[in-house]
Amino acid sequence: MTITIRRNKDFTDLLNINLQLRYESRRRIDDKVHVSDIIPTTCIRKQYFSRKHPEMDPISSDSMHNFIRGEASEFVITNLVNIGLAQPDIESDGIVAHPDLMVNDEVIVELKDTLSGKRLDITDEKFRSYLRQLLYYLVITDIEKGILSIRYNCKEFRWIRSDSEGDYYFKPHDGKEPGIESWSVSLPKGDISREILKNEMVRRKNLFLNALHQNDVSMLPKLSERYRGNKCTLCKYYNLCMDNSNEEADEAKEMANEIDLFDIGGVLDFKPL
Ligand code: SF4
Repeated sequence: MTITIRRNKDFTDLLNINLQLRYESRRRIDDKVHVSDIIPTTCIRKQYFSRKHPEMDPISSDSMHNFIRGEASEFVITNLVNIGLAQPDIESDGIVAHPDLMVNDEVIVELKDTLSGKRLDITDEKFRSYLRQLLYYLVITDIEKGILSIRYNCKEFRWIRSDSEGDYYFKPHDGKEPGIESWSVSLPKGDISREILKNEMVRRKNLFLNALHQNDVSMLPKLSERYRGNKCTLCKYYNLCMDNSNEEADEAKEMANEIDLFDIGGVLDFKPL
């Protein structure tokens, strides 16, 4: 008797095809506006292009596996903790929201899953993006309390340097283990920030819809410099977006240059864990 072990490419292909179909089916092609379309840290132009020219941005293996990781984590956690309504379907002012959990109509929970080696805080754009999304949900649902819960998949590691061969990191012995960090967020009902965030959302939603209906991307701002990193250079729509015929119109330029609410003194009161 011999135990035989062979690589099973057919099964891997079957899984990949089915998962890809599932991911593909979640692509938005209609003109319903979701919170994730209009968050300032997401490129609103990219959301426009992916509706108009989905064929130019085929699904990469990386994005598909990020999708699976996020879906799996969210599914397991929402089922295991069993503390509220998972992914309620909410719409307000023409904006669709699916917060991860809503507990007794009193608390919104947003679950995030990340491969980040650094434990995130308010100084990180990723953390600010998560926070913005949660705040949008609090505004849409008229709820005051939120929880942002971030699951780190790997032990803490730090970047040392990059060269032509790649990036170099190290894992300190005293680095934090994989795990979850949660943050309480409070947005009181009478707070002026609530009104400012609502105006921001509705304005971005209207601009996005107008651009879609008029087939005119120039109405939309490019991704703000501070959020770009290498997002623009890796973007499949780079040439189309940077083409002179698609330069930003005045309102788009104005929006791109606006001061972020989070950068106004006194708006955020953040205390590290
Ligand atoms: S190139 Fe940059 S600004 Fe243009 S669509 Fe892509 S991410 Fe957005």
